[in-house]
Amino acid sequence: MREKEDTMHDVIVVGAGPSGLNAAKILTEKGLDVLVLEKKSEVGKHITCAGIVGGEVFSEFQLSEESVLKKIREIKIVSPDSNIIYYKHPDPFAYIVDRERFDKSIARDIEERKVKIQCDSKVENIHVDNDSVQVWAGTNGKQRTKFTAQIVLIATGVNYSLHKKLDLGYPKDFLHGAQAELDLGPVDCTHMFLGKDIAAGAFAWLVPIGPKIVKVGLITESDPEGCFQRLIEKHFPSHLQNLDRTRVQFKPIAQGLTSKTYGERVLVLGEAAGHVKTTTGGGIYFGLVCSEIASGVVLRGFEKGDFTKNSLAEYEKLWKKSLQKEIRIGYKVRKFCAKLSDRQIEKIFKFIQSDGIIPLVQERGDFDWHSDLLLLLMKRIPFLQILKSQIVND
Ligand SMILES: Cc1cc2nc3c(=O)[nH]c(=O)nc-3n(C[C@H](O)[C@H](O)[C@H](O)COP(=O)(O)OP(=O)(O)OC[C@H]3O[C@@H](n4cnc5c(N)ncnc54)[C@H](O)[C@@H]3O)c2cc1C
Repeated sequence: MREKEDTMHDVIVVGAGPSGLNAAKILTEKGLDVLVLEKKSEVGKHITCAGIVGGEVFSEFQLSEESVLKKIREIKIVSPDSNIIYYKHPDPFAYIVDRERFDKSIARDIEERKVKIQCDSKVENIHVDNDSVQVWAGTNGKQRTKFTAQIVLIATGVNYSLHKKLDLGYPKDFLHGAQAELDLGPVDCTHMFLGKDIAAGAFAWLVPIGPKIVKVGLITESDPEGCFQRLIEKHFPSHLQNLDRTRVQFKPIAQGLTSKTYGERVLVLGEAAGHVKTTTGGGIYFGLVCSEIASGVVLRGFEKGDFTKNSLAEYEKLWKKSLQKEIRIGYKVRKFCAKLSDRQIEKIFKFIQSDGIIPLVQERGDFDWHSDLLLLLMKRIPFLQILKSQIVND
């Protein structure tokens, strides 16, 4: 195979998802020479994602709203026995985005600054020495190119082969996602479905993305294929016959707190570092939060001329300060809820309908930050009180 050598860059970002792209955008705005390497042929292609983000994400990270399909103000939560809690917020609390356009809009902001996002470039190896980091990427299986930079940011989502080569940490626990688009006709609002048979340890959803088209999906601890089949049988039986199983997408979602997210001349961010909400499996927001933190650390590295592991340790301290509590508490609550039987979930449903919990959620809930509300709910909801004492004594 032919090997080409590229010029030296300040920063190489591996992976053009929201985490890598946003880091590249910030560093580019600060004048650094950034190269983004992406293994797919195009940014935003073939993504498995419901595309739900909190309403604040666009202003917080100065992102374009052009990808927004709908705003979510109301949601129906459907219990295992098909009882419904209907929740309506005074304002939209989340947005449904077209994920391809979401990622592409960040990419466009970068490319407008003449930064190259090189697609069809799967990074296969990384070598770090005293003066630089070398990155080898394969292009269409035909050519291998060697790229060099001062520092590399690994933002490869749920792909961990580079982590293993560099002895970095990576998530050890995963949920399993399944999703397809269905033509259901007009649907009033986003739905969330609970039940051990359709989403063991997590939940399923219906998200309207057009006048007739919806995304139907789930995350589960096990058997995503079986859960998806049962979800359709139970909630959309008239679509069972026409369901094209080849169009159901499956993808894991990282879960739990990860360490060793930095090394000599290397930082890991986004889902590649487990920056995912352990309650809902949402990874876009935490990935963006950590891309800002990583960018700050990289910029300080350039000021000091220091990319040693000791200096970059600041990165993990900072992101853990921001996310550790969320990831830990969310993980424990979700694991605990996974053990509840459908009967116990029904009891919690009744309790929520009758006891002032909904006003509490309305007043104290936040789409992206869940731990404070969870701690409050643990005080109020009988089953969860046991969990509160476990978390406090941990
Ligand atoms: C069914 C399902 C539904 C979801 N719904 C939501 C949701 O509604 N809201 C939400 O916030 N999150 C959701 N998520 C999670 C969310 O999609 C991810 O957490 C998010 O995309 C992570 O962003 P990232 O930039 O860290 O990684 P990614 O978006 O995965 O981007 C990583 C990029 O790296 C590239 N790459 C990988 N390896 C290499 C390599 N060696 N060389 C070059 N490039 C490489 C990949 O091709 C990819 O483009 C969902 C996930 C699933 C499975």
